[in-house]
Amino acid sequence: MSIAENIAQVRANIAAAAREAGRKPEEITLVGASKMNDAAACREAIAAGIDALGENRVQEMAAKFQEHAYDGAPLHFIGHLQRNKVRQVVGKADLIQSVGSLELLAEIEKAAGKQDMVQDILLEVNIGEEGAKSGFLPAELLSGAEAALEKSHIRTLGLMAIPPAEADREENLRYFDKVRALFLDMNEKMFHNSLRILSMGMSGDYEDALRSGANMVRVGTAIFGSRHYT
Ligand SMILES: *Cc1c(COP(=O)(O)O)cnc(C)c1O
Repeated sequence: MSIAENIAQVRANIAAAAREAGRKPEEITLVGASKMNDAAACREAIAAGIDALGENRVQEMAAKFQEHAYDGAPLHFIGHLQRNKVRQVVGKADLIQSVGSLELLAEIEKAAGKQDMVQDILLEVNIGEEGAKSGFLPAELLSGAEAALEKSHIRTLGLMAIPPAEADREENLRYFDKVRALFLDMNEKMFHNSLRILSMGMSGDYEDALRSGANMVRVGTAIFGSRHYT
């Protein structure tokens, strides 16, 4: 299967799941998680109409950026972002989806201020409260949102989450529902219901995520094939 065929299949699945949940397929943003796939693969996905591409490693993103891998589509940063690499991402990524600490917010504010621009972000919630994972704990989320709102060079567009990898389907659904509840609460209390993006769901669970209210999914393997780690 080609990348274009895979995208068509994922789009068809998204459309079915969206309709099932009483929503319009065109309200769903499909982000291709293109890590470990080269610039040619990224261009193929863009030609096939992917809505955005998402990278999770700064160095790889910078290299592919140089090769014009992302021309014609928005670029999202979706991975763990170290503070000392923030300068390489701010102003390059149209959306940083993985902002999960006060320190990172402060660093992004500084870098965006230097460029005299406003960086769009999503707050990331560590929904499984996993020790090794980044993201605000559910109990910290509102204070994270408050800190983000105070920053004049940051605009918060929504929430992103990745449930624990080992969760079974039922547990996974419960995590998605929890994220959605947090999103609605934060949106009402802090953002006058202006937040638009709820990013959850990957190759194995994007249909379930959509049924639980996601409107942005990040799909890698089902589009680009399996990744070969070396
Ligand atoms: C790699 C990645 C994905 C996509 O994972 P697949 O299971 O290959 O679809 C989604 N989100 C993030 C943050 C990722 O790093």
